[in-house]
Amino acid sequence: MSRRLIVQKYGGTSVGTIERIRKVAERIARTKREGVDVMVVVSAMAGETDKLLNMARQISESPNRREIDLLLSSGERISSALVTIALNAIGCPAVSLTGRQMGLLTDNTHTRARIKQIDGARARKFLQENHVVVVAGFQGINERGDVTTLGRGGSDTSAVALAVALNADSCEIYTDVDGVYTSDPNVVPDARKLDVVSYEEMMEMASLGAKVLQIRSVEFAKNFNMPLVVRSSYNDEPGTLICKEDSKMEQPVVSGVMYDKKQTKITVSGVPDQPGVAARIFGALAAAELSVDMIIQNVSAENHTDISFTLAAADAGEAAEIMRKVAPDLRATGVSCNSEIAKISIVGAGMRSHSGVAARMFNGLSRENINIMMISTSEIRISCVIEKKYAELATRVLHEEFGLSREAVRSDAKSRPVKSKPQPRRKAAGS
Ligand code: ASP
Ligand code: MG
Repeated sequence: MSRRLIVQKYGGTSVGTIERIRKVAERIARTKREGVDVMVVVSAMAGETDKLLNMARQISESPNRREIDLLLSSGERISSALVTIALNAIGCPAVSLTGRQMGLLTDNTHTRARIKQIDGARARKFLQENHVVVVAGFQGINERGDVTTLGRGGSDTSAVALAVALNADSCEIYTDVDGVYTSDPNVVPDARKLDVVSYEEMMEMASLGAKVLQIRSVEFAKNFNMPLVVRSSYNDEPGTLICKEDSKMEQPVVSGVMYDKKQTKITVSGVPDQPGVAARIFGALAAAELSVDMIIQNVSAENHTDISFTLAAADAGEAAEIMRKVAPDLRATGVSCNSEIAKISIVGAGMRSHSGVAARMFNGLSRENINIMMISTSEIRISCVIEKKYAELATRVLHEEFGLSREAVRSDAKSRPVKSKPQPRRKAAGS
């Protein structure tokens, strides 16, 4: 019978110093002693990828992507070799493999390549010989044999893909927090660590800015039903399990409240209400590869209307420029930008089976006199655009409204928690 195989991925802070690398090696060796095969995937040491990128940018404003890939891949090589050396130093047989040595083949899209195939033969052989295999994450090679990387945060995707390719029993993602939280603990002091989250919820959370996992890794895990565990490398807490939604399990209505202050709203006003206008606006944005988030078209008055959309603040300048170019053609009366906005979202698989969730969200916001500018929904998410200065306040209000705090859950574990106790209103931090 073949032994159990666990893939353990260690993020940048977990291998950020020699001391941390020693600690990580001890944890790996401990897992190995439990009679499990262990494959490790490492990120670059904390800050290393940014440091390398910075060096390239000091030399050139638009460095060649192929060269960036070779440059960045070195960060993960360093940490994989150091972790392996640390394992060997405590008597645990281990060997490091780069993306190439691992046989991780990708497409040709330098700096955000997609994995095409993994030839795990070499890794398998080492595992059979009782070695821990330490793989440099975030990298592969394309058909030409050139080094590619998988996009920022790509080691998560390496780890899940390797777990799938080698038919591992689970994939553990080690980081510097205890797991996935109901909200940002810096904004909501009583945010709670979640024990279980479904793949779908995690994908929504990741796309709303939860940095704990690269969204592609969750997509990958979902497609192959690979259980993921996010946990801390600083303690032995069990972390958060990300898995298939369990229909027998009673779902909380809302699992998380997220906010994003890096959004901008652009309004194209006074456009004729006729076929083809939206196609022109969003076609021009798509041609520039800008992805739009929310869209709203007002009711038309006298055959003219306003179209507003939001997108990442970083893309707003370019989008506004494009809109100013198409505006005359569309006979629009103006283009305006508002960066004083934030997107606030609630996510929860329980929304599928509960009605009135949106109303509760809007009620919560209205109690605090927070105006809603835009609304969008998916099956398990509702997002509202509000004024930026209320982002933190809104997050706390909704966290409380849906009973997500530690206290509320203890006193009411039902699917529709009631408000635990009235809390004094807090002022929004900053404005
Ligand atoms: N080192 C890469 C990054 O910082 C990949 C990773 O850490 O997952 O984006
Ligand atoms: Mg990461």
